[in-house]
Amino acid sequence: MSKLSVSLKAPNGRQYVQPTGLFINNEFVTAKSNKTITSIDPATETEIATVQAAGSEDVNLAVQAAHKALKDPSWKLLPATDRGILMTRLADLLEKNKELLATIDAWDNGKTYSEALNTDLPEAITTIRYYAGWADKTYGQTINTDHKKFAYTIRHPIGVVAQIIPWNYPLSMATWKLGPALACGNTVVIKAAEQTPLSILILGQLIKEAGFPPGVVNIINGYGAEAGPAMVEHPLVDKVAFTGSTATARQIMKMASATLKNITLETGGKSPLIVFKDADMEQAVKWSHLGIMSNQGQICTATSRILVEDGVYDEFVKKFVETVKDVSKVGDQWEDSTYQGPQVSRQQYDRILQYIDSGKSEGAQVATGGETLQKDGKGFYISPTVFTEVKDSMKIYREEIFGPVVVISKFSSEDEAIRRANDTTYGLGSALFTQNLERAHRVAAEIEAGMVWINSSQDCDPRVPFGGVKMSGIGRELGEAGLEAYSQIKAVHVNMGNKL
Ligand code: ADP
Repeated sequence: MSKLSVSLKAPNGRQYVQPTGLFINNEFVTAKSNKTITSIDPATETEIATVQAAGSEDVNLAVQAAHKALKDPSWKLLPATDRGILMTRLADLLEKNKELLATIDAWDNGKTYSEALNTDLPEAITTIRYYAGWADKTYGQTINTDHKKFAYTIRHPIGVVAQIIPWNYPLSMATWKLGPALACGNTVVIKAAEQTPLSILILGQLIKEAGFPPGVVNIINGYGAEAGPAMVEHPLVDKVAFTGSTATARQIMKMASATLKNITLETGGKSPLIVFKDADMEQAVKWSHLGIMSNQGQICTATSRILVEDGVYDEFVKKFVETVKDVSKVGDQWEDSTYQGPQVSRQQYDRILQYIDSGKSEGAQVATGGETLQKDGKGFYISPTVFTEVKDSMKIYREEIFGPVVVISKFSSEDEAIRRANDTTYGLGSALFTQNLERAHRVAAEIEAGMVWINSSQDCDPRVPFGGVKMSGIGRELGEAGLEAYSQIKAVHVNMGNKL
């Protein structure tokens, strides 16, 4: 066993070798920073493993590797179809290792093993497969201008891309960013969040096994405040793609402005979910429960603000609370019957509890939950919490909580629902429930958000663009739109004989 790996046994009994180095040029290496990150099991608050953490010198080595790989014939001249084949191989390897990867993410993040295995991993695998298919299907255009002139466009990769990802869906967030970047021929330095540093290192092993040339994908762990700026400010980085908090996104935008870097940002939300009185109530309740309570409520698109029409409000609240009590079983993330595991970290746990206290002190009613559920004083468990009697001015109504906490409020007209849904600085997801076809599309058109779910919540598909408006982000990921973020167009003007 090298010093850059450690043998681990997960709580579900699975034994494996965890790499712990920085993955640069297809090799695991020690950080020159002498810094490390220790990953904590959020269920027991005990250490899982310690990995190398990049400082600015390490970031520079990773960026240099990506810069060299960009010009290397093994990548630059690789036919696009072969690029797609490498990606397909990576998807196959992810599939082959999905139980291991789901085990690591459940352990490291606190999400249930069944969610990691049945939601995160399929999403990661299909995203890489989907973009593998695009690798040889992105073309330029020919544009006729004048009878003796024409122009054509070439799609080039943007270059070296720095990708900074969050901890809530460690593997799928990595694949959302790697898929389009690789399909378009870029090279990458990707950094995982310090809370979940483990599974992405196995991804590094699989990237090498799939046959990607050295330096095409470099994977680092590192502290956001140190490795993050070193990536964003590096002069050889051509683009930054980020998913995380709005506060960090603002800092990134400022730093990237120094060299006018291309950026895509996916940030926070306070997504509304509107229930009209003609909705199928059973379905509205089930989807709105999933929309806020799945993944421990740690979802950027969580439909965390539920607006219910007068007349069905009491019925909705009653059924919603019953569903929370029946379905949201909090506990051991390895048990099949568990719906909600611990929050990812002490910091998030404390933050959510502060919001719960703020809701109580501002006078909102706790319909259920509002407590911690630690086992023997350990674990970042919070009971799923439903607030009613909420005012639009309250912090719990306006700010992103990023936990299993929802506010339910009442409205009395379609115009009011739209106005209040849009009364937020965010604009990521949104959902509406009605059986009136005209109203569904009318309201969908009026909502200020990057995504609208009609009669559902949280649907996500690699073929469909994802992103936010207002302070929820810039640019789109996934789908054909996701490719736009990773290629640039060169226009070539051709003169076939027009003389000056
Ligand atoms: P959260 O508050 O949900 O943890 P963050 O925005 O802090 O969200 O983190 C998302 C990602 O951004 C993580 O990978 C983190 O390390 C990184 N990050 C944090 N601060 C910075 C920064 N100043 N510059 C660049 N990246 C950062």
